[in-house]
Amino acid sequence: MKTLFFSFFALLLLVGCSSKQEIAQRAVLKQTGEAKSGLVIVDMLADFGIEKWEGNRSVDTVVVHTAYSVEGEPYDPKNVYNIFKKYNVTSHYLIGRDGVIYRLADENDLAHHAGKSKMADGREGVNAFSIGIELINSQTDYPTKAQYTALAKLIKDIKTRHKIEHIVGHKDIAPTRKSDPWNFDFNELAMLLEN
Ligand SMILES: [Zn+2]
Repeated sequence: MKTLFFSFFALLLLVGCSSKQEIAQRAVLKQTGEAKSGLVIVDMLADFGIEKWEGNRSVDTVVVHTAYSVEGEPYDPKNVYNIFKKYNVTSHYLIGRDGVIYRLADENDLAHHAGKSKMADGREGVNAFSIGIELINSQTDYPTKAQYTALAKLIKDIKTRHKIEHIVGHKDIAPTRKSDPWNFDFNELAMLLEN
């Protein structure tokens, strides 16, 4: 019932309320949910950039990205979503500057977030066995404290469902094409994951 309630709120968020209302609703969502489970995820499911997966997808990697929108307010999650739509790509999760986590794709489905990519162990096509998480951020900015906290909580949650062996940045698996996650501190994340 609680889940239904949250989903309803998430739906409300999507149908275009004024930004002040939206922020207020997000705050309500966050507080109410955090009291219960420590993790709140707002559904903003993409109907693009996804391949439905038959059976259980085997996942052992999390890929961290950063992105912003080149159209409109660069840090507005809806604008970032629209840019993804334009290029027919998506991550599984998107984390706003305020630490709100949006679910764009089901973890069991393959999401097109990494492109042509290769792990240090030689495996190619990282999308097939990874979960992609985008933090809203630009090359000249830094991820916020709220984003690190939310990311760590999310990865801990993902680890309850998948045996995660690798947490990598996009640039680690596509070094000639990609430079994200920009200004991201993996030591900070590692520290939060230990707590
Ligand atoms: Zn990326």
